[in-house]
Amino acid sequence: MRKAVKFGGSSLADAGQFRKAGEIIRADKGRRYIVPSAPGKRFAEDIKVTDMLYACYALAEEGKDFRENLKRIARRYGAIIDGLELEISLDKEFEIIEERFLESAGIEYAASRGEYLNGIVMAAYLDYEFVDAAEVIIFDEQGTFDADATDRILSARLQGCENAVIPGFYGAMPDGTIKTFPRDGSDITGALVAAAIGADVYENWKDVDGVLMANPQIVDNPKVVRSITYKELRELAYMGANVLHEDSIFPVRRKGIPINIRNTNKPEDEGTWIMEKTIQPTKYVITGIAGKKGFCSINIEKERRSSQIGFGSTVLQIFEENGLSFEHVPTGIDTMTAYIHQEEFMPRADNVVKELRKRLQPDGIEIESDLALIAVVGRNMKSTRGTAGKIFSALSHANVNLKMIDQGSSQLNIIIGVSNQDFEKAIQAIYNIFVVVRL
Ligand code: ASP
Repeated sequence: MRKAVKFGGSSLADAGQFRKAGEIIRADKGRRYIVPSAPGKRFAEDIKVTDMLYACYALAEEGKDFRENLKRIARRYGAIIDGLELEISLDKEFEIIEERFLESAGIEYAASRGEYLNGIVMAAYLDYEFVDAAEVIIFDEQGTFDADATDRILSARLQGCENAVIPGFYGAMPDGTIKTFPRDGSDITGALVAAAIGADVYENWKDVDGVLMANPQIVDNPKVVRSITYKELRELAYMGANVLHEDSIFPVRRKGIPINIRNTNKPEDEGTWIMEKTIQPTKYVITGIAGKKGFCSINIEKERRSSQIGFGSTVLQIFEENGLSFEHVPTGIDTMTAYIHQEEFMPRADNVVKELRKRLQPDGIEIESDLALIAVVGRNMKSTRGTAGKIFSALSHANVNLKMIDQGSSQLNIIIGVSNQDFEKAIQAIYNIFVVVRL
């Protein structure tokens, strides 16, 4: 078994969390390639080391004294090292960082040091080899991530390692300039390592139980999704569910490697499995619910619209000319409605309406604002009767006025439109009918 194992910042926030991670790694010989984030928050008001580094470097750039801030960061690592009773010192590393800050090494260099230093501590703690991500995660001369070169160099380098710690979040350009991925980018490094070693699984350890069936800020204690396909995950993520960054899915998906999201604080739990395909039966008809507020609908009415050739393409062309993408376009015999992001539409509204009037001579145009879209996602819906009926019934019992319903052509999701103010109530009602009542 070969596993690439990534730990998020809160899983490595202090010595106690490090010990939990250590126990997890030692419990399975397959956990050979470890990707750490920088230390995260230890408590709600705490500051992540990455944010401390950004702030510290900003002071350096302004020519202000940043040494006290840097010392504070050093003390966070010092507490971890002492708590783990390690014999290492990062003093030399902090001297180099101070020098490089004075030379204006760049904000990305600064941010990357969180993972770099945590990688050194992790490698010492586990007695694994430390592989600097700057040598194996490759960005080209323009600063664009080079997936092919990375895969080649990373797999060659790790082939020779029995065990290794590779810090997340950064890599380097050919001249050695450090580049970082977007925030939370250690997930991407973990996926790249998993792909490079041809891992059996990419384990991603966080401080949550896995992918949740609904937003916990809306639904109390939502169930954890046990297994989900990449396609389902994409639908949920697109509609706002807080899951892995798309870039961290792509490298493993391409190689057919499953992702297992686990909770460092509950290692006995299975977490969520993300796979290309699964025959695992699901307990519920739906896999999850997600949604977003902030849409508006533009309803264009014209008698016998459906028999007017080119009507639809003209509407879409007008949106295109105005740089607008649409989310959904339900149609009726005499109507066509487009759902668009309200913020994008508002500044262009007058122009769009003027063009629609001029080129289509409609009987009427109506704009409705402050709408929300909700996606009910599930690979099982295809073979289950009455899913849409249940949604109708749940919403009507909750007194929610349904404005639109659209079954995605993949039959993997049903999208519904409600007003912003009914958003939370609608999600709760749908969750209740499929998960709590389980009709
Ligand atoms: N430490 C970086 C951040 O805070 C990257 C990561 O944690 O994945 O965004």
